[in-house]
Amino acid sequence: MNIIVIGAGVGGLTAAALLRHAGHTVTVLEAHVYPGGCAGTFYHKKYRFDAGATLAGGFAEGGPHWRVAQTLGLSWPIRPVDPAWVVHLPDGRAITQWASAERWEAEWREHFPSSGRFWRTQQMLADASWDISTRPFPWPPASGRDLATLTRAIRPQTLRATPYLFRTMGSLLPQGDPMLQTFVDAQLLISAQTTSSYANALYGSAALDLPRRG
Ligand SMILES: Cc1cc2nc3c(=O)[nH]c(=O)nc-3n(C[C@H](O)[C@H](O)[C@H](O)COP(=O)(O)OP(=O)(O)OC[C@H]3O[C@@H](n4cnc5c(N)ncnc54)[C@H](O)[C@@H]3O)c2cc1C
Repeated sequence: MNIIVIGAGVGGLTAAALLRHAGHTVTVLEAHVYPGGCAGTFYHKKYRFDAGATLAGGFAEGGPHWRVAQTLGLSWPIRPVDPAWVVHLPDGRAITQWASAERWEAEWREHFPSSGRFWRTQQMLADASWDISTRPFPWPPASGRDLATLTRAIRPQTLRATPYLFRTMGSLLPQGDPMLQTFVDAQLLISAQTTSSYANALYGSAALDLPRRG
């Protein structure tokens, strides 16, 4: 089949590469003078600038870029970063988000001792969210076919996340620790482009999970 992909951003380029791999003839049309879209890089007077994205996730085993690489036989030039980030709080503390589960637990226990339930829920929702992203999940379903696909995509882990579908990250936070909220908001602002009062619990949990995913 002859297929035209409009836009050479990450989405268009990935779709084009997968379609090409599936045996189709693909033409990518791009309106701009360089590819990459919001994740592009351009040069000006010998300096290199990122158009947008600077923080890359999804390359760990099972992640979307990992799956694309497996399908296409690619090897990304990446290495895990641990710690991925350090948050400097207004009270002077610097909190390190370790990828290692043990080190991260020791860190939150020291700084936010009453936040255990929050982090356990965040981890469960993040796992559910990444898991859902590995298969077609037409939500909301627009046809009987969508409904059938959706039914096949549901696992026990997905059902555990159901009560949180319409909740925000803020509703999961324990009361009485404004610095914990600041800590969470600081990370959500960069990974979800909003704060805990607005970030959906499933999406926000996955966004907070980037350091753990390397
Ligand atoms: C400032 C900024 C910072 C970001 N930081 C991060 C980050 O750190 N980490 C992260 O994971 N994500 C980040 N993002 C988000 C991420 O960059 C985008 O989600 C992702 O690059 C979007 O890819 P896309 O292919 O869907 O769309 P786009 O990148 O928008 O690509 C669409 C492409 O289509 C082209 N196009 C549009 N219309 C036409 C047309 N009619 N004809 C031909 N071509 C057309 C556009 O020129 C563009 O190249 C950031 C985004 C921004 C803006």
